[in-house]
Amino acid sequence: MNDTIFGKIIRREIPADIVYENADVLAFRDLNPQAPVHVLFVPKRPLATLNDAAPGDAALLGKLLLGAAEYAKREGFAEQGYRTVINCNEDGGQTVFHLHVHLLAGRRLHWPPG
Ligand code: IMP
Repeated sequence: MNDTIFGKIIRREIPADIVYENADVLAFRDLNPQAPVHVLFVPKRPLATLNDAAPGDAALLGKLLLGAAEYAKREGFAEQGYRTVINCNEDGGQTVFHLHVHLLAGRRLHWPPG
């Protein structure tokens, strides 16, 4: 089983600042925010990395992005703009091995990322 700190958050075993939830997705504020808005969208059914997603996970991957966009619209910064990021494995900078989409907003973001 792929258990991580995010699994514990999903099961409400440790606290998190949860800002969005639907049947398949939970979103909470990043502990170490890199922008005024930094929220992590995680599937309740864990996948370790994007590499572990199979064709049958297509809908779940879509729900993560749709959740991020819905949240951005709800919070009123969708028009101003935001960024979604999935880090994968070592060179991608992934540190928690429960797939997640970062949503960053609230400042002008640099490109390319470091
Ligand atoms: P990654 O580097 O793409 O795997 O992102 C992991 C993110 O999880 C980092 O931005 C961390 O700051 C964040 N993080 C780690 N532990 C917690 C936690 O317990 N609550 C909220 N965010 C966390």
